[in-house]
Amino acid sequence: MSIITLSHGSGGKATNKLIEELFYKYFNNDILLQKNDSSVLPNIDGRIAVSTDSFVINPIFFNGGDIGKLSVCGTVNDLAMSGATPLYITVGFIIQEGLKIKELEKVVKSIAATARKANVKIVAGDTKVVEKGNADKIYINTTGIGVIKDEKYLSSENIKPGDKVIVSGTLGDHGICIMSKRKNLDFDVSVKSDCGLLNKLIKKILSKSSNVRVLRDPTRGGLATTLNEFVNESPNSILLYEQALPVKEEVASMCEILGFEPLYIANEGKVVLIVAEEDSEKVLEIMKKDPMGKEAQIIGEVIEDNNAVVYLKTEIGGTRILNMPVGELLPRIC
Ligand code: MG
Repeated sequence: MSIITLSHGSGGKATNKLIEELFYKYFNNDILLQKNDSSVLPNIDGRIAVSTDSFVINPIFFNGGDIGKLSVCGTVNDLAMSGATPLYITVGFIIQEGLKIKELEKVVKSIAATARKANVKIVAGDTKVVEKGNADKIYINTTGIGVIKDEKYLSSENIKPGDKVIVSGTLGDHGICIMSKRKNLDFDVSVKSDCGLLNKLIKKILSKSSNVRVLRDPTRGGLATTLNEFVNESPNSILLYEQALPVKEEVASMCEILGFEPLYIANEGKVVLIVAEEDSEKVLEIMKKDPMGKEAQIIGEVIEDNNAVVYLKTEIGGTRILNMPVGELLPRIC
């Protein structure tokens, strides 16, 4: 049979066949192959980080990735943002009947390849199938477990006036990629999603600087939302320099056409961090040497000001406040 049917989610013969021929085949590792109701992990020495996320992106395949790659990158990156080394991941699928098994296999292979690259083991999983009209192709939930070896807590409560704001690369690539695909916009240049793993880059940064205050991946809501979260948790404000913001030309022009600001558009392979001024150049250099941080830039600074807002110093010399976005810019972006 070439499509997923309700029997694949029944727990019976078809489910078992799917588990053996797809999930065990590609996710193959000693812990998963314990084949028990729960997998038992070895002792973990250090503080434990946990993160969970669900992925409902539409379309499920896009330029630069697919829902499978995204579901691993998203959770691995969230673990890395708290300074954790990602170790394990679980994967839950909700599939609508009628999905082609070939498509599911492509997603499963992509999950396996991304997990391998991230150096995480897929240790547990689940599959449910729902009737037509109750989902859209496939939804994935991933939960990740990581370990933190040092005692330091990364938190925006630590940020101080004079600290620098660094972003690892161009803004808005993922959101614009999905938006252009969804709206069937026929542009000469197709924007590639930045969907990617940040754990290796973060590890390098944290091993070389103990003055990183906080890290976050500016996903839904984009950079402006992440920076607003930072200032909401601290008494200070952030001043961004518009001319320093890295934005691809094609993303900028699509934003202009669609009436969006790249600062509010989702990224799936970028980190924004706040670091003490004395370490900012060093951290920038480390980032620029990594493939995930080639276009890193210092884009702003923390300023002493009790307003707790994000200011944008525009190219023409004015200053305006970047607020939190109101409402959902674009549903099912991740
Ligand atoms: Mg995050």
